[in-house]
Amino acid sequence: MVNEEKYKDINTFCNANKATLVAVSKLKPASDIAKLYALGQRHFGENYVQELVDKQTQLPNDICWHFIGHLQSNKVKYIASFVHIIQSVDSIKLLTEIDKQAKKNNRIIKVLLQIHIAEEETKFGFDELELSNVDFLNFKSIEIIGLMGMATFTNDKEKVKNEFENLHKIYVNFCKQTNSKLTTLSMGMSDDYVLAITCGSNMVRIGSLLFGKR
Ligand SMILES: *Cc1c(COP(=O)(O)O)cnc(C)c1O
Repeated sequence: MVNEEKYKDINTFCNANKATLVAVSKLKPASDIAKLYALGQRHFGENYVQELVDKQTQLPNDICWHFIGHLQSNKVKYIASFVHIIQSVDSIKLLTEIDKQAKKNNRIIKVLLQIHIAEEETKFGFDELELSNVDFLNFKSIEIIGLMGMATFTNDKEKVKNEFENLHKIYVNFCKQTNSKLTTLSMGMSDDYVLAITCGSNMVRIGSLLFGKR
């Protein structure tokens, strides 16, 4: 169920803090997305390629679709013509494929590099050393606009805070490394978006608070 009152509160909070709100609609029907769209929401996040493609064809063209799930290289081609930002880029192999598909579609695709900040081994992403070795000049049809990360799934707020502060520090260093064409630090979800914004996030990805449990 879509919580419209909650949406208005969170949207006001994000605007006041100059953070972009990405409404994470994975596993929710297109009709739920349409409800927030009617309230003015334009940024939506999806985790699964087939589901995103299905929804994109049903919904208005001015939606900015963020791909936020783990993306297999062989599936980039299905979203390359329309995706707004791919937030979950976690390997050079994937960067190379996005670059190729962007070129084919005659466009520049914006990406965030996903950084592994959590304790769980199951989460994806670059570490700091790998990040320093990315050769940006190789990718002509990609615009790297920032970083994305997910904290450990835990009730330990101090631990989450440390991870967010660490990602913010990596972002600041990465800005220097890239002579600062970066604009975006995507961190924070339903349980921790206020903390994330306090730690320097300017893009939050919120699902269950807006759309209910999955
Ligand atoms: C599902 C998901 C979210 C949203 O999670 P909620 O806890 O429902 O807000 C945010 N980011 C990523 C990468 C996700 O997979």
